[in-house]
Amino acid sequence: MSGVHIDRLLVIGVGLIGGSFAMALRNAGVVGEIVGAGRSLENLERGVELGVIDRYTLDFSDEVGKSDVIFVSTPVLATDFIFQKISLANYHNSVITDAGSVKGSIIQSAERHFDWGFQGFVAAHPIAGRENSGVNAATGDLYDGKRTIITPSRQSGEEATDLIRNLWFAAGSVVTEMNADTHDQLVSASSHLPHLVAFGLVNYIANHSRSAECFDLAAAGFYDFTRIASSDPIMWRDISLLNSESIVRELMGYIDRLEVLTSQIAQGDGAAVEDFMKVAKTSRDHHLRKRSQ
Ligand code: NAP
Repeated sequence: MSGVHIDRLLVIGVGLIGGSFAMALRNAGVVGEIVGAGRSLENLERGVELGVIDRYTLDFSDEVGKSDVIFVSTPVLATDFIFQKISLANYHNSVITDAGSVKGSIIQSAERHFDWGFQGFVAAHPIAGRENSGVNAATGDLYDGKRTIITPSRQSGEEATDLIRNLWFAAGSVVTEMNADTHDQLVSASSHLPHLVAFGLVNYIANHSRSAECFDLAAAGFYDFTRIASSDPIMWRDISLLNSESIVRELMGYIDRLEVLTSQIAQGDGAAVEDFMKVAKTSRDHHLRKRSQ
């Protein structure tokens, strides 16, 4: 361990991701005071009640200059406004980071708002989560053994990057680094596409002419497959819009594969259907085995 310690953490957006980060750092004993900021009083009061944050504010401007680290964990479309607000406060001695699921446009937003020479912005994305949101969903072990990807930019000085890396490490994460464009392309296939497919499937059944009967007959497999369709629509709307180019490319690729399967089934080509499914099964089984090792 690096012996990392910060006196004050400001979490803007105390939900699943921000609340869990706060809890993990508190459990690790690497943070003094944790201040929460957000829009709804109810969520922030609950955060204090649960011991996730020590106190809260609805206007974080005054807290910026007093915080060693500012962790932005709101839905991604809100980030630009938040960075703008931070940039109007006394931010130069703080390290600013975020946990958004899209990185390229967040980095562009930081470059628009923070001074050209500022070396204290480090973008990151924890590859951990679940479909529940708000501070009630936060848990101190969310990041245990899970990957967090840091996507450094020209505003990420060495000292700031080390601090964010060490905090994620203290939160339980395995930390790696990646270029933001590569990150956005890869997660559009591995994370964003599955969420959209789950939303698409449930939306299709909800609009089905015999929708109620379909849901009535749905078994565990349906709910396993569509668990992530219960995720927050605002969060996924924001991700879809901010990573639209990669997401549209992956959706088109996926539709192509569905068209291949559709035509194999329509033609009654059993061998082709079986091969199609074998590729999927073998690949899933292999990667699941690899993960568990
Ligand atoms: P969440 O549970 O909904 O938490 C977001 C929090 O942000 C809410 O508590 C909300 O509090 C606050 N908020 C929303 N809009 C705001 C605004 N304009 N200004 C200030 N606060 C605002 O969402 P989450 O799952 O933690 O996701 C947070 C971020 O992490 C997103 O950018 C997401 O892309 C990223 N992420 C999510 C996951 C996942 O699986 N969920 C995984 C990795 C990364 P109020 O009630 O006060 O508005």
